Amino acid sequence: MNFREARLLAFKELSSIGVPNPSLEADFILEWATGKGRGYIHGYPEHMLSAAEKTKFKEVLERRVKREPLQYITGESEFWGLTFKVGPGCLVPRPETEILVEAALEIFEEGIFLDWGTGSGCIAAAILSEKATCKAVAVDCSPKALFYAWWNFKNLGVLERVLLWHSNGTWDLPEAYERVDLIVSNPPYIPTTEIQNLMPEVRLYEPIEALDGGTDGLKYYNLLCSVANRLLSHGGHLVMEIGSTLQWRQLSKLYGGQFNLVGVRKDLSGLDRVLVFQRK
Ligand code: GLN
Repeated sequence: MNFREARLLAFKELSSIGVPNPSLEADFILEWATGKGRGYIHGYPEHMLSAAEKTKFKEVLERRVKREPLQYITGESEFWGLTFKVGPGCLVPRPETEILVEAALEIFEEGIFLDWGTGSGCIAAAILSEKATCKAVAVDCSPKALFYAWWNFKNLGVLERVLLWHSNGTWDLPEAYERVDLIVSNPPYIPTTEIQNLMPEVRLYEPIEALDGGTDGLKYYNLLCSVANRLLSHGGHLVMEIGSTLQWRQLSKLYGGQFNLVGVRKDLSGLDRVLVFQRK
C-alpha cells in the first residue's frame, strides 16, 4: 500500500460515515502512523508504507471509524499553544475555552485562583503559563481527570504552583485557599436530554460527568455560585463558560444578588460563550 492508496482508503471510509473534514483527517492519520509530514505524504504518493506503518495506519483508521476522538488516539491535544495529554476520562480541551482564558488574563494580575472542574488542567495551565507569579488550586471530582491534570502541570513546568484537589463538593477545600481572587470554570452544562444529540466522538467516548449539567444544564452553576460565595474575595472575578444565550439569562438571575455581570464574550460562531461576574 502506498501513500496515495492509504489516503484514498482513509478518505473513503471516513467520508462514508460522515466524519467532518475527511481529507484532512486522512492526512493526519497517515502522518501519525508514519511519522512523515504532510508535505512528504503529498509529495511522494508512490512511497510504500512499511509493514509496521501499515498496521499502525489500519489500527488508527479503525478506531477513528468507530468515532473515537482523534485526540484520544494520539493521546494529545493543543490548547493555548500548549500540548496537553488527554485520554478516556478527561474532556478534550475545546478551542472556544481559550476565550475564557483570554477573559481571565485580562482581569487577573496576580494572586491565587481556583479552577473548578479542571479536567485536563488546560485552563489553569494556560493562565499559569502566562502569569509567572500566580498560584492555582485545581479541583475536580474525577480522580482520572486529576491524573491528566497532574501530568500536564508537571510537563508544562507549573506543578509547583498548583494544588490539585479532589473534591465532590463545594466546601471541602484547604484552609490556605479559602480566599481566592479569581475563579474560572468550564462546568458540565449540557442538559441531560441533549446528550444524545451530541457528536458520536463526544457522546460515546468523552466522560459523561464532564458534560451532563442535569435536567436544565444548570446543576453545576448552582453549586459554583455557592463556591464563589464562600471563597471569592469581594471585588474578585468569576469567569465561566456557558452553553447558550438562554443560560446567560438564567445565570444573570441566579448570580444577580451577590455578583455584577461585567462581561459577556462570544465565540467565533457568534454564540455567547463566556460570562464574567464580579463579586459585590
Ligand atoms: N476545565 C476542563 C476544560 O475546559 C474540563 C471541563 C469539564 O470537564 N467540564 O476542558
